[in-house]
Formats: sequence, C-alpha cells, structure tokens
Amino acid sequence: MSESTPPPKKMNLNREEMPKQPAEVRRGNFKEVALGYPLETARREASRCIQCKKPLCVTGCPVEVPIPGFIKHIASGDMPQAVRVLKSKNCLPAICGRVCPQEEQCEAKCILEKKGAPVAIGRLERFAADWEAAQGKMEMPEIPKSTGKKVVVVGSGPAGITVAGDLIKLGHAVTLYEALHEPGGVLTYGIPEFRLPKAIVKREVDYVRSLGVNLVLNFVVGMTKTLEELLEEFDAAFIGTGAGLPWFMDIPGENLNGVYSANEYLTRMNLMRGFLYPRSDTPIKKQTRVAVVGGGNVAMDCARTALRLGAAEVRIVYRRSRQELPARLEEVENAEEEGVHFEFLTLPTRYVGDADGWIHEMECLKMQLGEPDASGRRRPVKIEGSEYLSPVDAAVCAIGNSPNPLIPRTTAGLEMGKHGNIVADPATGKTSKDRVWAGGDIVTGAATVILAMGAGRVAARAMHEYLSGEKI
Ligand code: FAD
Ligand code: SF4
Repeated sequence: MSESTPPPKKMNLNREEMPKQPAEVRRGNFKEVALGYPLETARREASRCIQCKKPLCVTGCPVEVPIPGFIKHIASGDMPQAVRVLKSKNCLPAICGRVCPQEEQCEAKCILEKKGAPVAIGRLERFAADWEAAQGKMEMPEIPKSTGKKVVVVGSGPAGITVAGDLIKLGHAVTLYEALHEPGGVLTYGIPEFRLPKAIVKREVDYVRSLGVNLVLNFVVGMTKTLEELLEEFDAAFIGTGAGLPWFMDIPGENLNGVYSANEYLTRMNLMRGFLYPRSDTPIKKQTRVAVVGGGNVAMDCARTALRLGAAEVRIVYRRSRQELPARLEEVENAEEEGVHFEFLTLPTRYVGDADGWIHEMECLKMQLGEPDASGRRRPVKIEGSEYLSPVDAAVCAIGNSPNPLIPRTTAGLEMGKHGNIVADPATGKTSKDRVWAGGDIVTGAATVILAMGAGRVAARAMHEYLSGEKI
C-alpha cells in the first residue's frame, strides 16, 4: 500500500492519549509523570490493532513479545490471559512499558505507523502489567524439580534479573550478587522516580525473588570474592555488571564542588533518596542555576531532576543541534514543557570556582555543524573566539558511561574489547572464559533495558543447554 492510499476502513488512526500530570504541577514533585490508561481507554486502544497475520511489531521487539496476542486479550477484556501472554516473553513488563524506546522498536514496525498512528504497544504493556499488580497477587509459574546445578549471576540490573528468572524457571539454583544495597541496577539508581517509580522495580524484583532466586546485596564480585572463587562453588556464571563508569570531559574545574557526574547526581537522588533530605541521610546542596552537559536520556533525567529540586534555571548544554539530540522525543518534550532550556551548538570548556572551591561560572564555546562523522551525524566544529562565561552553581556531566571495570580487571582469561567491554558471542552470550557468560551494558556499552534483557534471555538459554545438555 503506497503512502497516498487511504487506509482501509478498519484502520482506526485515533491513537489514545495517555493522561499525565500537568507540567506546572509535576515539575514540583517526584511522582510519576505519565498516569497510565484507564480500562476503557486501554480497550479502545487495543481494538485499534488489526491483528496482522505476519505481525511486524514482534520483529521489532528484542524479546519477541507476542504483541497482537496480548493486545487481543486486552481488547476483549480477558486481562488474566493478556498478562499470561505478555509475561510468557517479558519478565519485566511494567518497566518495559514505561521506559522502552517503543518508537524505535515495536511501534516503529507497526503497520499503522505508516499512517502516523502506531498502536500504543508500550502503553498497553504497562496497562496489562499494572492491572495484574492492582489485583494484589501475581500468577506464579510452576518451578520444575531441581536440576542440582548452581548458577551465579553478578549484577541485578535487567540483564541479571532476566537470567536469574529464566534459569530458576528451568530448575537451576540461582544466586544473584549485587554490589549495592538495593537491587535493580540503573532501574533503581539511575532512572528517576518520576519516570519509573521504585515501587514498580521492587515489585518486579520481588517477583523474581519469590521464584526462589537467592539475592545477596552489598556483595562486590572482584572484592568480596573474585569470580574465580565463585566458579569453584558454582557450575556456571553470568556477568551483568553494566556500564556504570562515568565519562568526564577532562576540562579545567571538573573537580570543583558542585560538578557531578550524571551517575553521582542521579544516585544521590534515586538510590539515596536525596530529595527527601533531611528524612534521608544524603544531602544535596540547594542549587539555583544548573547546567546539564549532554543530549541523551540521561541528560534529560538530570535536568528534570534539578527542576524538581527547586532550581530556578536549568539548561541542557549540547554541542550539536536539536536534530541530533539522541534523547527520546517524548523525553525532550517533557523536559521543555517543564521549563528546561536548551542551549544547542554549545561546548563547555572550563568551570570556574569560588574561594571555597565551589563552581560558580561555566565557560562555553559556540559550535557550528560541519561534515557528517562516523555516526552519520554532522560533526560539531568550534567557532574560535566565541567563548563566554555564564553563572552556574551546579554542573552535571551526562556525556556517557563505560563498562564497569572491576570484574574484567580481577578475572584472568576474559577477552576484552577496546572500549573496556567484555567480548561475548551475540548468539549465546558466551565469553572466552570457561563456564562464564555475559550480557547487557557490560558487553554492548550503555544501551537499553530491553537489549539488556534480550541478552540475558539469550545467555540463559545457552547456559541451560550447557548445564542440562538439553536445547530449549
Ligand atoms: P545495569 O542496569 O547497569 O545493572 C548492573 C548492576 O550490576 C548494577 O546494579 C551494579 O551495581 C551491579 N554491579 C556492577 N559491578 C558489580 C560487581 N563487581 N559485583 C556485584 N554487582 C555489580 N534504557 C531504556 O531502555 N530506557 C530508558 O529510558 C533509559 N533511561 C536511562 C536513564 C539513565 C539515567 C541511565 C543511566 C540509563 C538509562 N537507560 C535506559 C539504559 C538502561 O538503563 C541500561 O541499558 C540497562 O539498565 C543495562 O542493564 P544491565 O543489566 O546491563 O546493567
Ligand atoms: Fe497490531 Fe501493529 Fe502489531 Fe499489526 S503491527 S499486530 S496492528 S500492533
């Protein structure tokens, strides 16, 4: 069907909007911005799915959720069945429904996307998962007889949780070690409460624990025990330690007080609940003018967090133009609605401190776009002599992260990539080390929740084959 062909009558192009907190209200609180579909809206949206015989949306989902299947049950009102179908492939649907970049994945492939109104797959996924939670009890899968095999999973982010959930459902004993005092990885310490309430992460982690996974917190593999030592106790290991090592720009003044990495800033807020200080132990200095450097989702999260902490002026400083912003459009719009300013084609060159060592000014240089670089985006080029100073009392550097280096550094025989990532076979997650698999950001570098889960699923399948000799 060509772009100009009118859609068949059956195609309903009225995508249902999801209610959200008004911008002027939400910028003053940490509660979730998007409020979810009410039942009737969800059913109307679900009825828009035309149940394609060859559903392309499924090919756009890294964990191959049977999308038309679960949507069909929402449309007919059979919610228990909708949840069953959804969870047959996705163990974290309430999270994916909220944070997956659906516009680049399943929704980008939906046949209705050609008409500009794809079925709101993510919102329906969220609806089904929240419906189940509202019933007060989750359906538990049957756990088979123990295989007698023991698996260790390192890191409780989406990759580790997926591996742990999949392997316990296949009868293996799973111990999950987490370095921090709370499980969930970036879902807990990175993504802010107003986008992903921590109660939802806890609910999903509790589900995996209730299947019998032994979660051990405050256990840093590579320090508390090495991977080599764990391999003496366990039959196989999975490394899902993520990409938590922040990048800095290496410019003067980065060590001043008030200059944060996005990781530190968000961890103080999310994991340590700094926004509740003094009810929580972790303070954050009151800031009036905040600059966030970077243009990705992490930068949007930091800027919107700063607004909620009461900053009068929050700006995103990005060296390319609006067209090149890597953040999801929805997040950029949310940030703008809330009052975040964007300073495009701007590069920080130095931070200036006061006599007490606190940042009080930032020097920037204007840029212009040149030829495309290796990423296909036009390269930013400095405009010499365009430096200017502006007052700030906090700067947050959100320009990217590298894989966590501790396990690679303390484990012999792990082949490493040139960006500090662990090398693993994409088809199995197998590393160069005997009995060790890996997946998620530690392998790919900073990516997405669903890709980490997809990698976890692939590795769990391969680990099961190794442990049992049986193909899934
Ligand atoms: P992680 O989530 O990083 O989890 C790794 C875990 O391993 C951590 O809990 C860590 O403490 C633990 N660990 C590390 N070293 C050790 C050790 N030696 N011993 C024991 N435990 C260890 N993706 C999206 O899809 N949508 C979004 O909207 C989105 N927003 C984001 C916002 C922010 C602020 C950030 C930082 C990332 C965002 N991402 C988003 C990316 C996404 O969260 C990650 O790609 C994903 O969490 C990677 O999962 P993972 O399991 O590989 O690692
Ligand atoms: Fe439904 Fe769109 Fe998937 Fe077709 S592509 S099955 S319309 S969600």
